Amino acid sequence: SLTHEQLVAWLAAFRDSVHEHRDHLTELDAAIGDADHGTNLTRGMDAVMAVVAADDAPDTAAGLLKAVGMKLVSTVGGASGPLYGTFFLRAAGAAGDASTLDAGAVLGMLRAGVEGLAARGKAELGDKTMVDALAPAVEALADAVANGADLATGLRAAAEAAATGREATTGLEARKGRASYLGERSKGHTDPGAASATMLVEALADAVG
Ligand code: ADP
Ligand code: MG
Ligand code: MG
Repeated sequence: SLTHEQLVAWLAAFRDSVHEHRDHLTELDAAIGDADHGTNLTRGMDAVMAVVAADDAPDTAAGLLKAVGMKLVSTVGGASGPLYGTFFLRAAGAAGDASTLDAGAVLGMLRAGVEGLAARGKAELGDKTMVDALAPAVEALADAVANGADLATGLRAAAEAAATGREATTGLEARKGRASYLGERSKGHTDPGAASATMLVEALADAVG
């Protein structure tokens, strides 16, 4: 299961990961976008962690996830702010008022978040976006949960599926976002959003495992 402490640890681990890989994310975005993905996410997650660390931080999963989503929408410009913001707001809506989430509840939360993000971006699998990492991660977790695996094992499989999806974006032509302006020339470059989305799933696996 996912405790409130692990939920906070997830967000902190994602903040740390985007900081560690900020320049890499920005280099990926420089190749097919506008070279701001690393700085967008470090700014957003710094603002998120200030909210999460505050004395009056929400103490339910739903409350915390909603605050995260609203903060990302208000502090991250560009496409990824509203998209990650929608992910967390939809995840909040699915989390309910429980303080600890079992594996099925974590799956429901992630599925709602990813479906919301994809709908907001009108992105489908294969469009060379963060959805290419996130959707396979949700399916891997769903398979693991259906087979009776515990949450840590399921999230490890989800993180591997996300990384595989990220790698697959390299050969794809972008159909959404700035990279789509490049058409064929977007091929041969890994999508920055798929890279950061993989970090988001890996951070969750690390926080639980
Ligand atoms: P911007 O492109 O506005 O500068 P970022 O650089 O922060 O924003 O984020 C770019 C990432 O956002 C892309 O790599 C891609 O994964 C994701 N993205 C862009 N547009 C969409 C969309 N319509 N649906 C899903 N993801 C998208
Ligand atoms: Mg950008
Ligand atoms: Mg931008």
